[in-house]
Amino acid sequence: MNYTQALTEDIFQVIGKSADELGLEAYVIGGFVRDFFLKRGTSKDIDIVAVGSGITLAEKVASKLRGKPKVAVFKNFGTAMLKHEGIELEFVGARKESYHRDSRKPVVENGSLDDDQRRRDFTINALALSINKATFGNLLDPFEGIKDLERQLLRTPLDPNTTYSDDPLRMMRAVRFATQLGFTIELPSLQAITDNKDRLKIISNERIVDELHKIMQTPEPSTGFALLHKTGLLASILPELTALQGVEEIEGQKHKDNFWHTLEVVDNICKNTDNLWLRWAALLHDIGKAPTKRFHKKIGWTFHGHEFVGSKMVYKLFKRLRMPLNDKMKFVQKIVLMSSRPIILSEEHVSDSAVRRLVFDAGEHVEDLMTLCEADITTKNTKKQRKYKNNFTLVRQKIIEVEERDSIRNFQPPISGEEIMTAFDLKPSKEIGIIKDHIKEAILEGDIPNEFEAAKALMLKKGNELGLKIKSE
Ligand code: ATP
Ligand code: MG
Repeated sequence: MNYTQALTEDIFQVIGKSADELGLEAYVIGGFVRDFFLKRGTSKDIDIVAVGSGITLAEKVASKLRGKPKVAVFKNFGTAMLKHEGIELEFVGARKESYHRDSRKPVVENGSLDDDQRRRDFTINALALSINKATFGNLLDPFEGIKDLERQLLRTPLDPNTTYSDDPLRMMRAVRFATQLGFTIELPSLQAITDNKDRLKIISNERIVDELHKIMQTPEPSTGFALLHKTGLLASILPELTALQGVEEIEGQKHKDNFWHTLEVVDNICKNTDNLWLRWAALLHDIGKAPTKRFHKKIGWTFHGHEFVGSKMVYKLFKRLRMPLNDKMKFVQKIVLMSSRPIILSEEHVSDSAVRRLVFDAGEHVEDLMTLCEADITTKNTKKQRKYKNNFTLVRQKIIEVEERDSIRNFQPPISGEEIMTAFDLKPSKEIGIIKDHIKEAILEGDIPNEFEAAKALMLKKGNELGLKIKSE
């Protein structure tokens, strides 16, 4: 079959001509071809394989392009990369690979196109379109990749045991593609992943996290996490999560399965936010529940302090996976720490002062926190569901009202410590802290507005109570 219509970009003509001049065969391969057939929109990230030197081809192509783009050559990998008009082209020479058991870095030798297609991870990623003039647009599909696209199936070109054991990162990629594309991993592959799960230890955490991020950026990450769980991969990557799985029953009292609940929360939040870190916060919001779980004869199951414990676990988890220990992590920690606060509000009467305190503590992240709490409603009891949702709507309204009135979000005390010192002619002392705190509390409680005059009056009153003398003017 011929698919010239996939190759509308002018660049393909240039590459074809360059390859012809060098007497090389050249093909577009991988994600670009797959996404064309899936009608996912043409990818700007294009992989070219040459039977011969990919680097030589890249240099020839660059010399023909307007602006003569720079070619980045990675000699060790035998690859070259160039950027042209928003397109990123990666060139590689067709190769044959053989692997050592302790590394995912293969020993490479030159090979045919067929050899190169065999080393690819999935049949749908091994599709190649010819770009030489005489055969422009011809499809080479030795492993029935097109059929797998139709069947929505992830299958490896070789025996799956070999493919996954050679490069265990492919196990993560299988789960990621299954989640991104909504495809099924064929059974022998799923079995091979399960059998090879311990091989993941030769993969760097950075690579694993890259794939987790990609799973997290899909509309339903639960698909990926369920697969990671089923194959046993999750227990080594995120044991904090698998520890949440299961329901215990004592004396007829059960708690919910917090693993499956968490996955539901993640899918819910993905409908309302693209913020990757808020999605992570949703994934991790209950991890403190495993270590804090207790059974009490009178009250049943409790998870006291799980938010605090959970937020501490976030740090360890990020550190272990070599995720950034920066403000992103602090954001996740904060959301986890505060994850139950709006829930308590939604169960009871929503008071102004409780909302003010929430805004004060959550600061700029209060909306994100609300988004998590709304996603956290997974009860199947429609009456309860309606009640919680209504209350959260009320909380959101009150947040706006309180904000308009008292601007609590980036709370600045209406009276500074210096002003207090001047008023009472004080040196730095504990009274200043006491007065400041008293004013803040009164504002949060709604006893006084967040304004200078009211705060000044209260300062004088409190100072008087503390036996301080007002400085004579
Ligand atoms: P996307 O760019 O959307 O993530 P992709 O399929 O283009 O998907 P890349 O990581 O860009 O993925 O890799 C390009 C191609 O290289 C793949 O389509 C596949 O043929 C091959 N490939 C990438 N990583 C591996 C791997 N670990 N094992 C085997 N083949 C791989
Ligand atoms: Mg790609």
